[in-house]
This record gives sequence, C-alpha cells and structure tokens, in this order.
Amino acid sequence: MLIVQKFGGSSVADVGRIYNVADRIATAYREGHEVVVVVSAQGDTTDDLIAKAHEITDRPSRREMDMLLATGEQQSVALTTMALQSRGLPAISLTGWQAGVATSSAHTVARVKKVNPQRILNELEKNNIVVVAGFQGYSPSDDVTTLGRGGSDTTAVALAAALSAQLCEIYTDVEGVFTADPRIVKSARKLDEISYDEMLELASLGAKVLHSRSVELAKKYNVNLVVRSSLTSAPGTYVKEVGSVENVMVSGIALDKNVARVTIVGVKDEPGIAFRVFSLLSKRSISVDIIIQSVGSAHTKDIMFTVDRAVHREVLDILEENKRHIMYEHIVSDDGVCKLSIVGAGMVSTPGVATLMFEALSDSNVNIDAISTSEVKISVLLDEKDADKAANAVHDAFIDTNMRFKG
Ligand code: ASP
Ligand code: MG
Repeated sequence: MLIVQKFGGSSVADVGRIYNVADRIATAYREGHEVVVVVSAQGDTTDDLIAKAHEITDRPSRREMDMLLATGEQQSVALTTMALQSRGLPAISLTGWQAGVATSSAHTVARVKKVNPQRILNELEKNNIVVVAGFQGYSPSDDVTTLGRGGSDTTAVALAAALSAQLCEIYTDVEGVFTADPRIVKSARKLDEISYDEMLELASLGAKVLHSRSVELAKKYNVNLVVRSSLTSAPGTYVKEVGSVENVMVSGIALDKNVARVTIVGVKDEPGIAFRVFSLLSKRSISVDIIIQSVGSAHTKDIMFTVDRAVHREVLDILEENKRHIMYEHIVSDDGVCKLSIVGAGMVSTPGVATLMFEALSDSNVNIDAISTSEVKISVLLDEKDADKAANAVHDAFIDTNMRFKG
C-alpha cells in the first residue's frame, strides 16, 4: 500500500534521530509499501531562523520570511535522504514546489489549494522513497510560501489525499493525542481514538500535536490518520469520523500560550465599527480569536480581541495607522495572556460542564479574564503565569467526575 509518514522537528533533531527515522522508513519500504515521507525542520531550526530575521529587522517582510523559513525543511529532506541512501535504500528529496504543493499567496499562513502529485508518482514508479519538505509550497506567482507554524502535518495530509494513500502516519515525540499536554499535565492520558471534529477543536485551540488545517483536510478527504511516537512502537491515536468514536462529555483540554490580547478603548457606539476593525485585519490575513465588546461610558464602548503573538506588533501598527478611520481613544495590549479550553462533542447536552471548569479555576485561585463558548468547547483567557496551574486543576476536575475523559 501507499503510506505517507511525517516526522516532526524533534524526530529529526540530530544525526541519531535521523538514522532512527531512516530505519522506520526502511521497515515500511522493505515490507513492500510505497513510502512518501514528509519532514519538518530539525529541532529548533525554525525558531532560530525567526530569531535571525529579527536580528536584522523588527518587521521582516512576509515573503522574505517564507524564503528564509523554507530552508529549514530543505536541510531536513536532504539529510534524511542521505541517511536512507547510506542504508542502501533508493530515495530522493523534493522541495514543496517540486512535489507540486500549490498554495494561496498568503505568505507565512498560506493554504494548500491543490497538489499536483505527478513528480512524486514518477519517483514512486522508479521505486524511490520520496522525501518531501513539509510546511512549504508555491504561490500563484511562483513564490515560496509556508503554511503557518506546525504546517508540515498539513503537507502530509494534503499529499495523502492527493495520492489516495491508505494511511497517513504523523510521527512525533509523544505517544499520540493526550487529554492534555503531558509535558504540563502529569495526569494526562493518551486517547486511543478521537473524532475529526474534536481533534479539529483541540488543534485550533492550541493543542500543538496536529496543525488544525491538517485535520480539516483529513476530515474532508477522509484520510486515515494516526498520530504516534517515532521513539516507541506504541499504537498511537487514530483520528476518525464521528460515530466510530465513543461519545464522551469532555475529550481533552488545550492550552495556548501563544496569545496576545488587544483592547480598543473608547470607540463610538454606532453601527459599522466592528466591521471597520476586523476587515482591516482580515485583509492582511490576520485571524482573530475571542472577541468581546463591552459597554463603556458616554456612548462609547471597548472592543477586546485576541490574536497570535506573532502578529501582535503588526496588529498594533495597523490600528495605529488607521486611528482616524476607526476613531478610538487608545489601545491597551498585553502579550502575557494564555487561553485554556475544554473540548468535547458531548458537552452541549450536558449541564454543569462550565460550572465544573469555573469551580476548578476558582478553587485554585485563578482569575478569568474573558470567556468564550461554542457547542463543543469552552475557552477562558488567563494570565500566563497561571497557565500550568490552571491546566492541571481543570484537567483533574474532569478526570475525577462522571464527565470523565475517555482513555
Ligand atoms: N518547521 C515548521 C515549524 O516549526 C513547520 C513544522 O514543524 O511543521 O513550525
Ligand atoms: Mg507539529
């Protein structure tokens, strides 16, 4: 069968790890499978490249960021392919462009539009293991693009869909999807399976185990997806269609520490203000998360919203440039906040879920900044210093009740 195997940055962090990955790939290949491999940049490479850019300028252009960041994955594919070749296996590396990954033109947050897999198919035909650079593609104007942090997962799922792969394996440094990040919450449990929808919520709320767009694509194209460890042979977590997954109240919690909060103080209380603000941001491909509008005094109001920390500066610049157009008194912003969320498909029909969450936070003396809810999740905004304490308290509160996690 045709298998796509994706290895994250920690799985290829050094020479030993690269050989470990090569051995895994070799096993699948020797079992007679066609293997397409996707790798991320080694270890902290992407962070280091971002830091390098910021040594040059505070505001690097997004196009040049993509040009820079794409080099991380190119190192990994070349090194992984060399390791495979030195084990006597036929292998070839491809960039995102060579692999036919066509994306939108939104630099640093591009979306995969289409994959033209012809080159990959030709290489498989020649019995090659094909090692593709994750996280990158090319835009309609043939510029290098990247898919957003963690985007190699999306490359893997997009390739699996385009190649009609029987299986897409996402290898990482944990044994699968957990009820919470096991590095922060000691009592977190591994899930054997999770529905696409719950996984999508967890991923978009900041559980870093899968890139949320990868889950969206997996659901859309019904890709057989499993998250497992590159270091052990544990079976991992299967991500599946609902219905084939046991229904529970709360399936997991996500903690997102990459949040900045912006408040526009003193805007006029009249129609069109929110539209003015958020259309300015969406034109620059900036996505906004929790939005709260509060009544101020004397015909004014405040609009509070959260964004990724990476675009915090840009947002402040946009608001400053458009101060006359929006008409506000001043801006208050804070990048020391985090977002804690609980997710579960069964939540909507269960009274008391929110109360239990708030009780756990209150018992551990954590102040809630803002709350946002939907049918399948409750998110709260907190001071970053309370993040780990709050995650543990909320997680343990649900573990100990009949709203327990499956596990
Ligand atoms: N190297 C990129 C990042 O660190 C993409 C990835 O790891 O999936 O975000
Ligand atoms: Mg990742």
